[in-house]
Amino acid sequence: MPETQLLQPDEDGINRAAELLRTGKLVAIPTETVYGLAGDATRDVCVARIFDAKRRPRFNPLIVHLPDIDAARRIADFDDAAEALAGAFWPGALTLVLPLKSSAGIAPLVTAGLATVAVRAPGHPLARDLLTRANRPIAAPSANPAGRISPTTAQHVLDGLDGRIAAVLDGGPCETGIESTIVATGPAPRLLRPGGIPAEALEACLGAPLAMPDTDAGIASPGQMRSHYAPGAALRLDADTARPGEVLLGFGEMESDLNLSRAGDMVEAAANLFGHLRALDTEGASIAVAPIPETGLGRAINDRLRRAAAPRD
Ligand code: AMP
Ligand code: MG
Repeated sequence: MPETQLLQPDEDGINRAAELLRTGKLVAIPTETVYGLAGDATRDVCVARIFDAKRRPRFNPLIVHLPDIDAARRIADFDDAAEALAGAFWPGALTLVLPLKSSAGIAPLVTAGLATVAVRAPGHPLARDLLTRANRPIAAPSANPAGRISPTTAQHVLDGLDGRIAAVLDGGPCETGIESTIVATGPAPRLLRPGGIPAEALEACLGAPLAMPDTDAGIASPGQMRSHYAPGAALRLDADTARPGEVLLGFGEMESDLNLSRAGDMVEAAANLFGHLRALDTEGASIAVAPIPETGLGRAINDRLRRAAAPRD
């Protein structure tokens, strides 16, 4: 990949960043929390590139960034609590997990196939300006390689991702420096992650306590899977061919019902994963899946397939 451009926070820099995003490239952008690795949330392949650039070994759902509540209402259903919280704390360091609208046009890889979507309107003026000009929902996890500390300056971003992304928009140091607070609304609003806005402030706004994250549940506990999309169909991994009654999800040059990537391209395979699983996941179906190499995004693909294939309760 060509060298990563450092864009200045002026008219030219913001326009260039917006243009890169509109043409499917990745740009690290300043927000008030930390720098985000931004990509077009409506295109699976752009989202796959985010995971690839970060070398993330897992497809966890990403936060979708929007300029304001009107834009967020177009992709997610706001209940009264969500309206109240967004009204009080947006733009700002609060992420809301809400039901995804069927008409949202959000790539399934953004939500890891879930029926909910995490949305945020960041308060940083450059981020807001850029999101308006990009004119589409933008997925953005923190702009650091997986397992490393979140970046709070453009230089931090370059330290970790130089040469792996198209550009960094330099907005100086982030003001808050920690990630957004995440709340899932619904009948009993829950705190999913503490962050830039204290839980007490949210509770004061709601006039009710938030349910707290379930810290007893072990990270690796299979119960965690329940929060993730898993096909209803049984899955058999490392299959060379389909057995009678099975449909085959292929990889590479082979006969199959659907193929993740005939060219064996991991970014393409990751982009297709959730859509293809869903397409093959019909009543009573059994899905055989061709072997996927454990390289690059193949690790994240296999992680998700193994969890989908694991026995369920
Ligand atoms: P990051 O993008 O690295 O700041 O992390 C995003 C966080 O939001 C992760 O902890 C996700 O698990 C959480 N998240 C995003 N979307 C959802 C969702 N639909 N349901 C629950 N949690 C979500
Ligand atoms: Mg992160």
